[in-house]
Amino acid sequence: MDKKLNNLILVLNCGSSSIKFAILNPDNKEKYLSGSVECLFLLETYITWQCLGTKHKKKIGANVNHKDALNFIIEQVFSQQKDIFKNLIGVGHRVVHGGTKIKKSTLIDSNIIECIQDASSFAPLHNPANLIGIKMIIEKYPSLSRKNIAVFDTSFYCNMPETSFLYAIPYNFYKKYGIRRYGAHGISHNYVAHRASLMLNKQFKSLNIITCHLGNGSSISAICNGICVDTSMGLTPLEGLVMGTRSGDLDPSIIFFMNNHLNLSIDKIETILNKKSGLLGLSGISSDFRYFEKKYYCKKHAKRSVDIFCHRLSKYIAAYTSVLENRLDAVIFTGGIGENVPLIRELVFSRLSLLGFKINSNLNLSTIGGKSGLITEDNSTPVFVITTDEELAIAQETNSIINRK
Ligand code: ADP
Repeated sequence: MDKKLNNLILVLNCGSSSIKFAILNPDNKEKYLSGSVECLFLLETYITWQCLGTKHKKKIGANVNHKDALNFIIEQVFSQQKDIFKNLIGVGHRVVHGGTKIKKSTLIDSNIIECIQDASSFAPLHNPANLIGIKMIIEKYPSLSRKNIAVFDTSFYCNMPETSFLYAIPYNFYKKYGIRRYGAHGISHNYVAHRASLMLNKQFKSLNIITCHLGNGSSISAICNGICVDTSMGLTPLEGLVMGTRSGDLDPSIIFFMNNHLNLSIDKIETILNKKSGLLGLSGISSDFRYFEKKYYCKKHAKRSVDIFCHRLSKYIAAYTSVLENRLDAVIFTGGIGENVPLIRELVFSRLSLLGFKINSNLNLSTIGGKSGLITEDNSTPVFVITTDEELAIAQETNSIINRK
């Protein structure tokens, strides 16, 4: 076989409404194949993929679920790569929530599957989807069954101090039921933080930064001396920033009010807060930031939604400077919105000039579409845009676990 095709890892990222996949080399970072299925459960589900530079796009159907989409990927895309699959060195699965027991990436066995299942109540939109992917790969590729590695978003947060992860509710709810802040998006925060340490030419263990992952789901983390010391997502990925369809922070009494006075069931409220709130709820139109970028200056509801998004984000950035032991090396923006929307960076940091941020307009406007770099003036607290690559991070982690075995 072509030497280039050795040392490859399959990465599977089964999200709540999309499935991303890639086959790549964790050492030279070359992607042999990558793709995604978007718009699961919607009117038109489609798949795009790219193999050695050749792009493909196909409609899969309507209201397609995870299982059907995975079957399509396996039968139409992976089946063309039989030689590659014989020689894969491992399969890395993204898992959002490790629950109370799992703290780091690990080889998947029946015990780990049970733990991921148990943690589903903390990530009801994500863990069940992650598990469908894991089970499907084990079933369809039995020869790879001892090579499946779970890489957890929550691992990045396992050293947070209890001052950050405990809620001010009776302590017993934490001790007995594991109710605490677990965080999410850890794979991305960890990846961009390591890239920041290279860009700042600073050792990771002395790095003091704030990382903002802004996508359909959004979160922010404070990293002090290379350890994550606070993060905005909580027991579940619902807490924190304003997101595409999730509310982020709110007064819990809103739930009692909706239940007691509006007679909405708990299930209905859960759906409202997870799927009908955030930018979609505020605008009544869209959760897609491309829409808000276009309409910010001409539609009142678009401006209102974006301003609330920025208000919450800038408040978090300011608050997180208080947990960094008096030194902030940089703020990092990543994720679909963080990497592509100069308007957000302009609006957020204009609110934070008190903390010494001065955005350079030219750098801000030109750092989009996959570019990484500094977007602030020389005399400013630095802000970097850094493109995230969760698939590469998962492949590298998978490789290190396989080699350790
Ligand atoms: P997730 O991985 O959480 O599904 P992404 O990181 O892909 O999300 O980010 C999706 C968000 O980023 C969407 O709101 C989308 O509109 C926005 N986005 C992606 N690319 C662009 C772009 N070029 N311009 C404006 N917004 C963009």
